[in-house]
Amino acid sequence: MRAEILAIGTELTTGQTVDTNSPWLSQRLAEVGIPTGYHTIVPDELADIVEALHIAAGRASLILISGGLGPTQDDLTREALAQAAQVSLVEDPAALEHIRTFFSSRGRPMPERNRQQALRPENAELLPNPIGTAPGLFLHLSQALVFALPGVPRELQLMFQEQVRPRLLKHVGSAGVILYRKINTFGLGESAVEEKIADLTARGRNPEVGITVSDAVVSLRIIARYPTLAEAQAQVSATESLIRQRLGEIVFGVEDEELEDIVVRLAQERKATLAAAESITGGLVAHRICRVPGASQYFRGGIVAYTEEIKHQELGIPWEMLRELGAVSAPVAQAMAEAVRRRFAADLAVATTGFAGPTGGTPQEPIGTAYVALASQQGTEVVRHVWSGERTEIMSRTAKLALNLLRLHLLRRPTS
Ligand code: AMP
Ligand code: MG
Repeated sequence: MRAEILAIGTELTTGQTVDTNSPWLSQRLAEVGIPTGYHTIVPDELADIVEALHIAAGRASLILISGGLGPTQDDLTREALAQAAQVSLVEDPAALEHIRTFFSSRGRPMPERNRQQALRPENAELLPNPIGTAPGLFLHLSQALVFALPGVPRELQLMFQEQVRPRLLKHVGSAGVILYRKINTFGLGESAVEEKIADLTARGRNPEVGITVSDAVVSLRIIARYPTLAEAQAQVSATESLIRQRLGEIVFGVEDEELEDIVVRLAQERKATLAAAESITGGLVAHRICRVPGASQYFRGGIVAYTEEIKHQELGIPWEMLRELGAVSAPVAQAMAEAVRRRFAADLAVATTGFAGPTGGTPQEPIGTAYVALASQQGTEVVRHVWSGERTEIMSRTAKLALNLLRLHLLRRPTS
């Protein structure tokens, strides 16, 4: 069985609303072992929807539709399904009753427009919507099973779980399981990561391993297809272990984990307090750490020392150093980290300085150059990196570089 998801709405094709229903539905389908072949987005135009339905029925055995079940004139899913299936629309008395009750229980008369929500293609079964007026639809179109759900994400999600999922489980029975696992790394580029695990990313392998990169974080996505959950779990773990062996310390987390989640967790385990002095990152390091619940126990504070004057005044960076070496230099990064560590009495402190562009930079230190320092009782280390990308990307990646430095230092620190 292979699915196609049809998201209907002119607000989607015009880019005013981002289609979040299709990814959500694909994830739920994967959990019951059904891969998605296509996501299609069509506007609220009858002919387009009918055409999309014909195409989908020709290439997918399951079609999930989101949207177009509302009471207004641009809600055309019912009509398009009847046209595509070449059947007529009939009014469903039970559905009409449900809609009337929905309004009367809220003390309002039913607008005449809502009456069309009680219509269904004559070969369709209505799927109850306990939290809205639009019922869903379930029918056959050629060889394909079709489920139509309201576009409102809360209604769609509830109805998928209550109405669609149980019916799918009956149909797919033993189709097997698809299990996903995402492993996040920081510190190596996409191709350098792939070189280390080329045998795992080879096409046709099961579990399959794919690589994606997002804002300097390279993620490996493991996808396992097996007849049983136990087998899929065992194979995903085996592939994950291989990846961890090959990549070592650059692996920082899984699924939605961010570098700062790990930093705060390690700070807690190691009982280490943190501070930051930020120039190029403008407070991003502090912001990311503070986003993590519980950060207040470990993050003591930060200073955004943006100008040379503030670097001198608040962190005591000597004027001669700033003049002779420039604010974007290893010694300045080091001095900033050491100063904020002392000032905030933190165990570990990071500092960032660099050129985010679009102007500035020098031949030796081009735009994208960042120095990140980490000061601890054992001394101070400084790393330099030259990022490509535009201003906000350079800032964000430098903040991650600082968080990663904290993570690596904390990893090596004994637990107390
Ligand atoms: P509809 O069922 O087409 O009347 O959609 C009702 C509302 O749900 C729309 O106004 C959107 O705000 C939202 N919606 C519809 N389709 C989607 C989608 N694919 N992803 C996220 N939100 C959606
Ligand atoms: Mg709509």
